[in-house]
Amino acid sequence: MTKKSIFKAARVSNPDVSGWLKNHAVIVHDGLIKAVEPSENINAAEDSHEVYDLGNVSLLPGLVDAHCHMHCSATWDARALALGENNQQLTIRATNNMRKAVLAGTTTIRDIGSKNEVAFAVRQMIDSGHIPGPRLLLAGTPITITSGHCWFFGTEADTETEVRKAIRTQVKLGANVIKMMATGGMFTPTANPRRPQYSLEVLKSAVDEANRMNVPIVTHVLSAQGVKNVVEAGVDHVIHSRWYDIDPEKGLDYDQNTVKKMADQGQWVDPTLGHALLAQEAKARGEQGPMDPHWAVSSKFVEENEHIETLLKMHDAGIRFTSGLDMGMAYGTHDRSAANAWAYVEKFGWTEWKAINTSTAGTAEALGLNKEIGSLKSGMVADLAAFDGDPAKNIRTLDRASTVVRSGLLMKLNNTVLV
Ligand SMILES: [Zn+2]
Repeated sequence: MTKKSIFKAARVSNPDVSGWLKNHAVIVHDGLIKAVEPSENINAAEDSHEVYDLGNVSLLPGLVDAHCHMHCSATWDARALALGENNQQLTIRATNNMRKAVLAGTTTIRDIGSKNEVAFAVRQMIDSGHIPGPRLLLAGTPITITSGHCWFFGTEADTETEVRKAIRTQVKLGANVIKMMATGGMFTPTANPRRPQYSLEVLKSAVDEANRMNVPIVTHVLSAQGVKNVVEAGVDHVIHSRWYDIDPEKGLDYDQNTVKKMADQGQWVDPTLGHALLAQEAKARGEQGPMDPHWAVSSKFVEENEHIETLLKMHDAGIRFTSGLDMGMAYGTHDRSAANAWAYVEKFGWTEWKAINTSTAGTAEALGLNKEIGSLKSGMVADLAAFDGDPAKNIRTLDRASTVVRSGLLMKLNNTVLV
């Protein structure tokens, strides 16, 4: 028998995720959206459907987040934990984190760096219905150089041959995407963020190998030379995209020509500002807040507004941004993907709808899933998240969802968890 339900709400996002349809209902059959119609039109259908009148809420497609580390603790101890905990402990944390994520309304997540033994097992348990969680695209372990960024949960691969083998191994394990650390990172004392970790030649080989295996390749990159290399190599997504000069005495080394090429090639960027915002708010509450700068960037510290300036220039040049919290990094808790949209409004000055669209339809497009998820229209997967208040007026009301449906399955109803 077909499972049929109807979700009525005062505000339902339109098919472009750019405005509200007032007093509409989403009709769901067998996990897919059958139709979105004015609530007054559907009375005849009510007998044959389970009807949920959610009342004065804003009903959106489930949020999509392109940047997660499922087993990381979202505290400054994340590295120590990743080093000191065994796979069972990491798997228990990842299981809980994915549950929190989906119950907050994030129904699709791309994890771009977690241990293989954890990530693939957690996805299998979610997909077989044993535990609640989002739809997961996985990189498994990130690929990094020996002692490079995130080596403690990565695959260390230094040469072209090692990198090609690492990529093939990840795909064999079930990876949907390849993550490479193109420069060092703030999180890893032994990895210099100002320096490329791989030569252009090795990055080109990595792109070639990922193309052969038909998976996209995304790269963590914090320095100007790193960005130039990954743009030249033609990776699909650029994560962070900061512009640190290679000289530790200098600030940023922004390059407009590289940005133009990035825009021409359609490379997406994940600017990861949401978790920075959460860390700043933690500091304002009297907690530790943002971490001390990495030794490689401490002699010439760059204020956030300089980074924002470069990101806005990139956006003006035509580069599109994804939503990506870097879930699992300090204060980037797995239930706070909405902070990406807060940062877009409050730090970039975007409209609320542009931010909401990026957190749903836009990032679904970046992940190649926009024919299935990211908007509420007939034929799409029934991933729904209802928020109290109106996030188009106040983006902060986009927070933890009060009702969540994933693939037609009701997981949370009016703040009552059902799974
Ligand atoms: Zn990350």
